[in-house]
Amino acid sequence: MADIDTVQGWLGESERVAVLTGAGISAESGIPVFRGPGGLWQQHRPEDLATPEAFAKDPRLVWEWYDWRRARVAQASPNTGHHALARLERRLPVLTLITQNVDGLHERAGSRRILRLHGDLWTLRCTGCGRQNRNTEVPLPELPPRCRCGALLRPAVVWFGETLPADILQQASVAAASAQLFFVVGTSALVQPAASLPLMAREHGARVVEINPERTALSSHCDISFLARAGELLPQLVGD
Ligand code: NAD
Repeated sequence: MADIDTVQGWLGESERVAVLTGAGISAESGIPVFRGPGGLWQQHRPEDLATPEAFAKDPRLVWEWYDWRRARVAQASPNTGHHALARLERRLPVLTLITQNVDGLHERAGSRRILRLHGDLWTLRCTGCGRQNRNTEVPLPELPPRCRCGALLRPAVVWFGETLPADILQQASVAAASAQLFFVVGTSALVQPAASLPLMAREHGARVVEINPERTALSSHCDISFLARAGELLPQLVGD
């Protein structure tokens, strides 16, 4: 396929590459995206659960949803798309992987240099003392979980309406602005500020390549837009 050859050529001549991933890259691992089939949980929309207001109103309900999501992810495995990105990192001088995902599948595939824009399902943060702890217990023994200090624990993820960690966003912006090649994989490009990173890369001269089975708001701004699944296309681009 001509486009695959073209992108492989770009990969060969690029020293700084950045990748932005969204829920779509984990879809082939059986993790539901938010805006699509399987996104609903017990008739609740994610937008109504992943908010500080929902947690304040009913922390147990929000935790039941996160406990369910953690269980799904724990049973899943990284797919060929995650693995291809981990191989690419080992091959390139600089690959910055910027992810909106909270599932930890990139780490499990072997990626090392990861900027987690939206946090991590496997870290809990105390709403009282602020202490953070890694926790991989599935299911959690008590819902909602509590800190040693007595206050409620919450997942260390960024909820709708919350700001992203400034240092991570800054590093992602630097990676986007300095990349020669930027991949956008499995994101509907609707959640800001992540969606602006590919545009920033383009403004600074990067080639932008999208991989998504559906067209998105970004498609017309990309040099090449593959209408394909990440788990099929990334291994073809990256090779063994
Ligand atoms: P999103 O906005 O990133 O949209 C998912 C996109 O993935 C869609 O454009 C869809 O066409 C595409 N897609 C579906 N299957 C694909 C495949 N096999 N290969 C490539 N692309 C594919 O995600 P969202 O679900 O709307 O979620 C919004 C926010 O919640 C984001 O921060 C997202 O990352 C997060 N979220 C994370 C997870 C996770 O950690 N796995 C799961 C759900 C949502």
